[in-house]
Amino acid sequence: ADDPPHGGGGHNNELLGGLLPPGMDRRSCRSRYQSSWYYKHFPFAPSRHLLEKLRAYEARHRRCAPGTPQYARSIEQLRSGRSAAAAEGGMEECRYVVWLPFDGLGNRMLSMVSAFLYALLTDRVLLAALPPDSAALFCEPFPGATWRLPADDDFPVANLFRVGQDMEQSYTRLVVDKKVGLGPPPAANATATATTTTVPPSYVYLSLGWLLRDGIFFCGEHQRVLGKINWLLLYSDLYFAPSLYAVAEFHDELRRLFPEKESVHHLLSRYLLHPANPVWSLVTRYYRSYLAPATRRIGVQVRMFGFASIPADDMYDQILNCSRQEHILPETDEAATPTAAATGGGHGNSSNNNSTAIFVASLYADYYKRLRSRYSAPRMGMAKGGGGGGSTSTSTRRVGVFQRTHEERQATENLAHNQRALAEIYLLSFSEELITSGLSTFGYVSSSLAGVRPAILLTAFDHKVPETPCRRAVSVEPCNLTPPRGLECQGKPVDKEDLARHVRVCEDFKNGVKFF
Ligand code: GDP
Repeated sequence: ADDPPHGGGGHNNELLGGLLPPGMDRRSCRSRYQSSWYYKHFPFAPSRHLLEKLRAYEARHRRCAPGTPQYARSIEQLRSGRSAAAAEGGMEECRYVVWLPFDGLGNRMLSMVSAFLYALLTDRVLLAALPPDSAALFCEPFPGATWRLPADDDFPVANLFRVGQDMEQSYTRLVVDKKVGLGPPPAANATATATTTTVPPSYVYLSLGWLLRDGIFFCGEHQRVLGKINWLLLYSDLYFAPSLYAVAEFHDELRRLFPEKESVHHLLSRYLLHPANPVWSLVTRYYRSYLAPATRRIGVQVRMFGFASIPADDMYDQILNCSRQEHILPETDEAATPTAAATGGGHGNSSNNNSTAIFVASLYADYYKRLRSRYSAPRMGMAKGGGGGGSTSTSTRRVGVFQRTHEERQATENLAHNQRALAEIYLLSFSEELITSGLSTFGYVSSSLAGVRPAILLTAFDHKVPETPCRRAVSVEPCNLTPPRGLECQGKPVDKEDLARHVRVCEDFKNGVKFF
C-alpha cells in the first residue's frame, strides 16, 4: 500500500501547504505523508501566521520535551510544590499543559486538539499522558521530540489517570480557598493575603469537559493567573476551542491564526493526529479493497445513546428521511426507470461509470444490513462478496454498502478496539458526503477531518423520534457541548457582535456552541 489508491494523488499536497513540518521519518508514520492520497480535498489553506506559530511551537517543544535539561528542571520545580520562578517575577521558559485521557476516542481527539490550541495560544508545551489503551494509536506529532509524558513513576503527581478525583488541586477549588488569587492583593491587607496569593502552586487540575468544574478558566483574569502556573493538568472530553474565542485575551490571536473560523479543528487535527502504522494499515487495506473502486463515497455514522434510544425501525426511517431531505444516498426507485438510473443517484451526474460506496460505522450491524438489502433487492445481484460489504449493480449504476466492524459495545480500555474505532473514524473521513449522529464526538471528528459539512441526525431526546430528521451542518467544526454559562468575568469585555459572527448555537444541541 505504498502507492496512491487512485493511481494519482488526492489533492497532491503532501505537506498540506506547509502545515506539516518537512523531514520527518516516512516509515515510522506512513499516514502523515500518505493521507493526502486519500482525502479528496483540503478546503482550508493554513494562514502564514499559523505556519509560523507551528514552527515556533515545534522549536519550543524540542527545548522542553522529556529528556531535555529544561524538562528535568521543570520536574524538580513540580516536586517543590511551587511555581517558584514565576513568583520571583521571571517566567519559566518551559510551561506545560498535560493532556489526560477522559472518555471515548472521539472525545479524546477533540480534547487533544483543544489542548494543543491552548498550548499554541499560551506558549506552553503539550504533553500527552497516554494510557496503555491509547499507546499505539497516534504517531508522534512533533519533529525531534516526544509528546508522551513519561510513565507514572517518574512523574511527581500520583494517580494521574484517576483525575477529577483530586479536587484539592483543582483550579476553582484553589481560587475558592484563596490559595491562588487574582493578582496583587489590595494594599490594606497585603500581608494577610500576599503569602497565599503570590506564590502559585506548581500545578493545578483543570476540568473542562462536560463536567466543567473550572468554567472560570474562560475568564481573561483567570488566564493571567494560570499563566504563572507551570503545570496545567487538563481533564476534558470536549472541544472547548469555540469558548476560547470568547476570552478577550485570545481573541486577536485566534483571528490571526484562523481567518476562517471553520478551519480551526480541521487544520489542527490534520496537523496533530496521524494514525500510527498498525491503524493506518487497517485503514488503507480496507479502503483499497472496498471504497477506492467507487466514484463516490458516502459515510453513514449511527450512534445510539442509551438516553435517546428509539426502535431500530424508527432510526432507520430517520436515516432515510434525512438522506432524502439532504439528497445524500442514491434513491432505489431510479433503477426501475432506466433513464433516471443513468443519471445515477439522483445527483445529476450523468457519468456512465457511476458507482457509490456507502460506508457504515456503527456499533451494530442492523443499519448496515438494512441498507445493504435496500440496494440489493430485488433486481440486482451481488457484485462483490465478503469483507463485510455487499455491492449491487445495474449496467449504469452500482451501489456498495460496507461496514468494517460491529463491536456491539464500547470498550475504551482495549487498545485493539480503539485501533478499529480510529480506523473507522478515518474511513468515514474519506467520504465526500456524510450523515453523522448528533451529539457524537466520533461523528464530529470524522466530518471535521474530512472537511465535509455533514447532515447531522438529530437526537431523540426523551426517546421521541425528532420531527426534523437531520440538519445540514453550518460548518465542519465540532460542537462544544458544554460551554461555560452565566460566567461573569472581570476582565476585558469581548466584542459581542464579532462573537456572534463566528460562534453560534450547534445544529444538534441548543446548549452547545460552535465556530462557523
Ligand atoms: P461518542 O460517544 O459518540 O461521542 O464517541 P466516542 O468515540 O468518544 O466514544 C464512543 C466509543 O464507542 C468509540 O470510541 C468506540 O470505542 C465505540 N464506538 C462507537 N461507535 C463506533 C463505531 O461506529 N465503530 C467502532 N469501531 N466503534 C465505535
